[in-house]
Amino acid sequence: MGRKVPKALRPTRCVSRIEMIDLDELERQGIRCILFDRDNTVVPRDSREAPRAVLDWLASARAHGMRCLMVSNNSHRDRVARSAGELGVEGYPLALKPLPFSVRRACVACGVPPEQTVMIGDQLFTDILSGNLAGMETILVRPQCDTDLPGMGIVRKVERIVVGDAEFEGEDRR
Ligand SMILES: [Mg+2]
Repeated sequence: MGRKVPKALRPTRCVSRIEMIDLDELERQGIRCILFDRDNTVVPRDSREAPRAVLDWLASARAHGMRCLMVSNNSHRDRVARSAGELGVEGYPLALKPLPFSVRRACVACGVPPEQTVMIGDQLFTDILSGNLAGMETILVRPQCDTDLPGMGIVRKVERIVVGDAEFEGEDRR
């Protein structure tokens, strides 16, 4: 990532996929709460279901004693709750990412301070920015598929410029 990228947009780490994040390592770092985005982070936008590997990773995170919360900008409480339930986690709707207040409230509601929380997502300008502003660790993952919401093309282009040639763990240098 280029040197001129503002701190608030710099993820702590870049990892190719959420399920490649080593949970023992997070635990050693003192992380006790995992907040994550839904679309293209755990559920590909061209699918209705999370891949088996992601479900296994989430189950393992819970087995590590971590609180797992899906934080969504979606305002439909029941839809977010249903989707989170399918993943076996709690859901937090209307997160208003990139504003930091709601994501902060989400972990504090679990009794975990932001310094012991990691925010994981596929978008710099919502997921990573909100986590950084809230004082959390942040992990940027690659979008699970190329399908995005309409109008996202320009955002992704800017993202690509910001992310530049950053190395993603679990990926061969291309
Ligand atoms: Mg997303």
